[in-house]
Amino acid sequence: MEEREFFTESTQAKPARLICPHCRTEAEYAVSWVVRRKKPAPPPRADSLDRARFQKLTSYMVRRDDKLTCSNPRCRKTFEIAGLQSVVSL
Ligand SMILES: [Zn+2]
Repeated sequence: MEEREFFTESTQAKPARLICPHCRTEAEYAVSWVVRRKKPAPPPRADSLDRARFQKLTSYMVRRDDKLTCSNPRCRKTFEIAGLQSVVSL
């Protein structure tokens, strides 16, 4: 059984204040995340091994965006998201 069968997946944008490394302008960006919420119970066809795995799992989210475009109209450069975790437990 695949891990994704234990989760309900959704996409969510969360605001984050980030500083562009090129122009040093701080701005708020909507960073896109994939949210994996653990289902209340494992699927009915899960065997005992799957159930044991399910017990250990927790909800988490994974960042989808690696890069952003600077919102400063005089800069508009692409920069990598730094200082923001890529996986967060919920
Ligand atoms: Zn910039």
